[in-house]
Amino acid sequence: MVILISDAFDDKLPKALAKFGDVTDDKNRLAESEIVLVRSKTKCTKEYIDSAPNLKLIIRGGVGLDNIDLEYATGKGIKVLNTAEASTTAVAELAFSMMIALPNHTVKAHNSMIEGKWLKKELKRTELNGKTLGILGMGRIGTALAIRARAFRMKILAWHPDVYFSDFAEIRPTLEEVLKEGDYFSLHMPLIDSTRGLIDKSKLELCKPSAYFINTGRGPCVNEQDMADALKNGKIAGYATDVWETDPPESSPLLDAPNTLFAPHIGASTKENMTRIGIIAEKIVNDYTKGMI
Ligand code: NAD
Repeated sequence: MVILISDAFDDKLPKALAKFGDVTDDKNRLAESEIVLVRSKTKCTKEYIDSAPNLKLIIRGGVGLDNIDLEYATGKGIKVLNTAEASTTAVAELAFSMMIALPNHTVKAHNSMIEGKWLKKELKRTELNGKTLGILGMGRIGTALAIRARAFRMKILAWHPDVYFSDFAEIRPTLEEVLKEGDYFSLHMPLIDSTRGLIDKSKLELCKPSAYFINTGRGPCVNEQDMADALKNGKIAGYATDVWETDPPESSPLLDAPNTLFAPHIGASTKENMTRIGIIAEKIVNDYTKGMI
């Protein structure tokens, strides 16, 4: 059995999987592969799946499945599994670090010092304490963020199409209500038809001009042009994002917008998470070889 590791995983994974078959990272061996391990880089489109006639199992290291044509894969009898629970802490900590860095101008302060400037009067900070955080997508990562935000004495609101109670947030009946009330918003929804472009001009107009958005969910949930315009027109105070319309961004309007903080899709990329993803991936392969999945 050929096991193709197509994207970046823990260095120890090839050795751990070697007991199950012939492990390779040679993408030219896709046609021979029975199991393929991907993260977000490899796009498992119809064409990709058609060029893998022996494929029986796709393992997505991480959470979102939006880079996999699920319907087509399952229609062909290919099982698709992810390592959903592994990445929660890694992404929640990045979201929280962005939520601290943006209103404290951490990066701007650092860069200004290196440039020989002394912006003591110019850099006006604001505190998280007592502010309202709206969590959009109150699942694993959203909940982990809420737990951390409570320690900073933030008030937490959430909106979720099918959840009415939470131990960690007050659930509002509509997204619009959360957007009107919040000082910070953090996106943790999957990219699906109903969330694509969800945060657009009409939603941004509901927000306070002092509001900050943090996006460690998926880039296309935010309309990049509308967000860039809102930043340039002072309708929004700041936008921090780890995720983009395309990875890497190609001439994104956000790149020259003010009050931003960017990362190159590193939400899942902690050393600890890579180990956790590897452990779960190994278990999935083990279960597969034993006929348990
Ligand atoms: P999860 O499934 O536990 O939570 C997602 C939540 O969003 C669910 O509770 C779901 O019901 C809710 N939701 C769905 N549609 C919604 C809508 N229209 N409005 C509000 N809420 C909605 O998933 P998770 O583990 O918390 O991960 C969330 C997302 O984070 C993933 O889908 C993925 O896109 C993203 N992610 C990003 C990185 C990164 O590297 N930046 C890493 C891992 C995950």
